[in-house]
Amino acid sequence: MKNKLEKAILTHNLDEETIIELLSTGIYDDLLFKAADFVRKQYKDDIVHIRGLIEFSNICKQNCKYCGIRRDCKNIDRYRLDKEQILSAAHQAVLKGIKTVVLQSGEDAYFTTDKMAEIISALKNLDLAVTLSIGEKSTEEYRALKEAGADRYLLRIETTDRTLYEKMHPNMSIDNRLRCLRDLKKLGYETGTGCLVGLPGQSPESLARDILFFKELDADMVGLGPFIPAPETPLAGEKGGSLELALKVMALTRLLLPDINIPATTAMEALHPQGRTLALNCGANVVMPNISGCNYSNKYALYPGKSRLTVSPVQTIDYAEKIIQNAGRKTGTTKGFRNE
Ligand code: SF4
Repeated sequence: MKNKLEKAILTHNLDEETIIELLSTGIYDDLLFKAADFVRKQYKDDIVHIRGLIEFSNICKQNCKYCGIRRDCKNIDRYRLDKEQILSAAHQAVLKGIKTVVLQSGEDAYFTTDKMAEIISALKNLDLAVTLSIGEKSTEEYRALKEAGADRYLLRIETTDRTLYEKMHPNMSIDNRLRCLRDLKKLGYETGTGCLVGLPGQSPESLARDILFFKELDADMVGLGPFIPAPETPLAGEKGGSLELALKVMALTRLLLPDINIPATTAMEALHPQGRTLALNCGANVVMPNISGCNYSNKYALYPGKSRLTVSPVQTIDYAEKIIQNAGRKTGTTKGFRNE
């Protein structure tokens, strides 16, 4: 295995069988994490980019079985931020030197393409890179949002296992999800995808195919998080995914896609107090503090235990900077595109 990993450091290829073996046992974890960290340093140096995450609506028409803000969750406070609130959060981030904001929401029809285009162009006037994470859209809608100035789009495939995908996503189709991702690439977005690690019924084989899918798509960003059962969902009583497995999927992704952006996700911190630091040591080079504001960020409860949720945008950015410093890394000062 040592030889295979040394070869992968140079070629950025691993066959499916080897990936499955690495995911199925803990005995090579140290070697794998060191290899991923080596590749990360080689391609991304010690720079960690901060993206300000604005969760601007927790209203969603979809009903994904694992999600704490799915349509059928009745006991959560639904909210929407208006354009002024979004701009105010972004403005605070700009004052802290942030160069990218991520606009994330459920699939909320209130935010039409025209409304989003207005918000995007106002954010571009602040000289920000704009990432959208607002779900499945038509080709034309993606085109209009790109023309309005959006730079990046995050749409996790969640799982490439067709049967599991359809079980987890009532009335959604994996073919449409794939169409969306291919549209985004074709339209010139920096395209992010990713998966949930540890879903009930997910196998190492299936996760290996997810990782190979990221490579095949040539994803520009990959976001990975352990599955954490959320209350009031059909999966509330299931066993959650492990941090170790999520870190392994992350490390393998870094090995195969050496120059992409990989966030250390807050879901990892929900499972371990140093989750994001551990992720930075296993291939991650991005952190995404929540800057939605104290009144809202704790309502976007995709899963329980989302960390640092009751503090102001300035505090969450300061905290992210501290994580970067403590990991012995430097905060990026650019917009942090893949090919910078
Ligand atoms: S995962 Fe996304 S699309 Fe699915 S219910 Fe949650 S917010 Fe909506």
